[in-house]
Amino acid sequence: MNVKKSNQFEQLGIYCHIPFCVKKCAYCDFSSFECQDEKMVARYFKALYQEIINFAGQNKDTALVPVDTIYFGGGTPSSVEPVYIETTLALLKEAFFVTDKVEITIEINPGTLTLEKARRYKNAGVNRVSVGLQAWQDFLLKILGRVHNQAEFIDSMEILKTVGFDNFSVDVMYGLPGQKLEDVMETVQELMAFSPTHLSCYSLILEDGTPMANWVDAGQLDLPSEDDERKMHWAIDRFLKEQGYDHYEISSYCQPGYESRHNLKYWEMVPYLGFGLGAHGYFKGKRYGNANNLLDYCKLIESGKSASESEPEMLPAELMSDWMFLGLRKLGGIRDDLFKKRFGLSFFDQYETAINSLINEGLLEWDGSVLKLTAMGQDFGNRVFAAFV
Ligand code: SF4
Repeated sequence: MNVKKSNQFEQLGIYCHIPFCVKKCAYCDFSSFECQDEKMVARYFKALYQEIINFAGQNKDTALVPVDTIYFGGGTPSSVEPVYIETTLALLKEAFFVTDKVEITIEINPGTLTLEKARRYKNAGVNRVSVGLQAWQDFLLKILGRVHNQAEFIDSMEILKTVGFDNFSVDVMYGLPGQKLEDVMETVQELMAFSPTHLSCYSLILEDGTPMANWVDAGQLDLPSEDDERKMHWAIDRFLKEQGYDHYEISSYCQPGYESRHNLKYWEMVPYLGFGLGAHGYFKGKRYGNANNLLDYCKLIESGKSASESEPEMLPAELMSDWMFLGLRKLGGIRDDLFKKRFGLSFFDQYETAINSLINEGLLEWDGSVLKLTAMGQDFGNRVFAAFV
């Protein structure tokens, strides 16, 4: 089978993980730590810089591949001194061919952003900010264990405006314990005053072992019913569309032309590199993941080893499966001509039974060239995605 494994020599995205947070949120199971020990932070960044240098030295063929997205995620990248972000960016620009049109995003959390930090990000080339609000109401922020309150979010918005960051995304969560439909609507309505170019709206996922999962298990907190959670999703959806936002991915809305270019790479299987603790990458037809223990990560790099464990080269069937279920996250759907171009056959040749039964169930629709989720398919997205795994 003639499979084009990836368009790795056309463009590349880079993700850098900054694992430090002021305090761990009650629902969080990401690779992040309450760590404001400056020595540990300095040691981590030294390892991160070294990882970037090592990669570039060992993959000289990437030096000419245009890097058009860079993403600082976490954790809370805005919780560390801005010099770390500046140095990482300078290093990336030295080691890779970062294009003039690069989208550089940093995640920030209210309460950790200062005017000086925002100015320095801007001067370093950051041109997109992703703000972790989650909910407008202070009582919900408290339940979530967020370090910030509404007033601090508004302060952060003012800082971004003062510095001239007009391309920014805001994270919103729904399906939270104690949250009512009116709270969710108040959150998105209040946000309109700031004109975010992008909103990421996530339904809470209770992760085993988190304090929030334990409180729910112990009956100390009640989640909204599944019906109410779906009502919240559709109320947000209706409202944001009325406000002119496109719903372009299950959890993502944007003003026209403001899709997250970096995240699109994940859903379209465009190669990206991941640097830092627990970071993942997809490069030269292989997926890889870095060590996710902070000390292990630092020690591996310090002893001249790689922090990542590369998986074997993906088989054609695995590539096709990822292409289907990641691509179907996009509300615009997936095109059979692009599938044919990449894999040399139609997705019906590979998945006829699964596709037809999902169409018959009303979860997918096919218009002769594009396959996409229906409204019901959004409600049962996991069932759709599982059919291609
Ligand atoms: S700020 Fe984000 S990464 Fe940090 S603990 Fe909270 S949810 Fe997790």
